[in-house]
Amino acid sequence: MNEVNEGRVALVTGASRGLGRAIAIRLAGSGHRVVINFARNADAAAEVIAQINESGGKAISIGADVSDGEQVGAMFDQIKEEIGAVAVLVNNAGITRDNLLLRMSEDEFDDVIATNLRSVYLCTKAAMRPMLRARWGRVISVASVAGLVGNPGQANYAASKAGIVGFSKSVAKEVGSRGITVNVVAPGFIDTDMTDGLDDDMKEVVVESITLGRFGDPDDVAGTVGFLASDDASYVTGQVISVDGGIAL
Ligand code: NAP
Repeated sequence: MNEVNEGRVALVTGASRGLGRAIAIRLAGSGHRVVINFARNADAAAEVIAQINESGGKAISIGADVSDGEQVGAMFDQIKEEIGAVAVLVNNAGITRDNLLLRMSEDEFDDVIATNLRSVYLCTKAAMRPMLRARWGRVISVASVAGLVGNPGQANYAASKAGIVGFSKSVAKEVGSRGITVNVVAPGFIDTDMTDGLDDDMKEVVVESITLGRFGDPDDVAGTVGFLASDDASYVTGQVISVDGGIAL
């Protein structure tokens, strides 16, 4: 247990599965008290809590749709009551609704922007007041290589992730003088449910384009988030750190 982090509350959105789960476990391992947010999958969230408790960590879970302002407000109220003010916010929840532009429906566009980008605005705003009072805070948002270089079939998703970058750089400038850092992690292809749907041929093509020759593991991303949440990253803000095995080289 890392004494420095003991007592800091970390909220990880979309932590029932995939990257969020790995990030939550990593932050618990470095002494944070962790809030596992999820949308529907309460059983998976309970499993993450059980794993954290087994290793001597502390975590609670809260179901809330992070694209909904009222649910986000209620979640932050509950966190404050049950475990304390959020010091580390990891905006991780995200979805894809892939389609080529000419076939992309308004719902496919709006749902992705709401879940991936509106959520970052809502959660960061809700976390900011207590961080400003504490004169310390970490906001880390999970974007994607798609938001940096684009990807056919993902105009909605890439727009949401590029939006996270502009949002984060702006907020970093607003709150930097108050000891709060705001950064972005941009993963490439990581083994989770989100990439499970790719067929084997497509996976082969993707792997050929990755400099390190493999898909990433959720722990690869969790390590970078853990660094950005730590005191070692005190002088890093407004940055986009790619964790993509060199796919965008
Ligand atoms: P995943 O395995 O599909 O898990 C998504 C997580 O987000 C789940 O915990 C899900 O909760 C939660 N979630 C979805 N909609 C939500 C909402 N409206 N409110 C609250 N939680 C919600 O995805 P992943 O691969 O771990 O991706 C995590 C993040 O990394 C996303 O932002 C994604 O865009 C980004 N990313 C992933 C990759 C990759 O290759 N996997 C690459 C680049 C970026 P439930 O379990 O309750 O459904």
